[in-house]
Amino acid sequence: AQQYPDHIWQNGRIKPWAEATVHVMAHALHYGSSVFEGIRSYETPDGPAIFRLTDHIKRLFLSAKIYDIAIPYSLEEINAACREVIRANGLTKAYLRPVAYRGLGGFGLSAETPTDVAVAAWFMGPYLGAGVLEQGIDACVSSWQRFAPNTIPAGAKAGGNYLSGQLVAREARRLGFGEGIALASTGLLSEGAGENLFLVFDGALHTTPVSAALLNGITRNTLITLARENGIEVVERDLPREYLYLCDELFMCGTAAEITPIRSVDGKPVGTGKPGPVTARMQKLFFGLFDGSTQDRWGWLEPVSG
Ligand code: PMP
Repeated sequence: AQQYPDHIWQNGRIKPWAEATVHVMAHALHYGSSVFEGIRSYETPDGPAIFRLTDHIKRLFLSAKIYDIAIPYSLEEINAACREVIRANGLTKAYLRPVAYRGLGGFGLSAETPTDVAVAAWFMGPYLGAGVLEQGIDACVSSWQRFAPNTIPAGAKAGGNYLSGQLVAREARRLGFGEGIALASTGLLSEGAGENLFLVFDGALHTTPVSAALLNGITRNTLITLARENGIEVVERDLPREYLYLCDELFMCGTAAEITPIRSVDGKPVGTGKPGPVTARMQKLFFGLFDGSTQDRWGWLEPVSG
């Protein structure tokens, strides 16, 4: 059974986990009207740090802006809540989940409801399973497409978007795959159920553009920055499905998935069928931020003790 942490932050204070409840008629429960973030904290030589906390909370506010969800706290207050909930649960390596949602206050689609805000934190290992960071996963292309850009904005990290993600992820698991990859409504490659994609050709990284109905991932941005800094070419471009089968290496990235190699797609081996050298190099650069072997020149590690 799922183990829950003792404490959670909700609407301004830390409370026992069991007390952070929502009314069954809350707007968000019916209509998907929530915005959220997924953030990780790591142990570092300088103590526990939250990775790109401020950038994640900025994205939370941008997601809320798209849907006119008024967040009754400042960015600084939500940052502080993230730190507080980690400390209250005695966590170091954790996953943080801030969420702002339309609460109880009206049943119409455009009802002016109050916004409730919560931040949870719990220990989380590799998202796609034990050993996947080393061994990689087998992925498939989903029969479900991502939503078109003029339907639901993929650039907002909103609750309702994750109906699409659930279809992609559950279909993949049902068919025995580790994760599903979706095509955009254009037919071009988009992203994983909850991860961005990087393909490797001749030592260069190729990643799909935000126009392909994907979330502008903070891990994606981190890897683009680290790669360029280290002389690895990065190309953002439209990519057709078959390039998944033709590339030398392939990996998914996201806060939860970190850098997960993909060793096959639709039963076809990617490259040698094993995680390759560029993927390993990106993992080393990324995880090096947390053991100190990659210098954090960008202020991405925000101390929990803040
Ligand atoms: N795409 C989707 C659909 C996601 O849910 C996520 C996870 N937030 C990502 C990409 C990766 O984004 P990030 O690196 O900011 O976690």
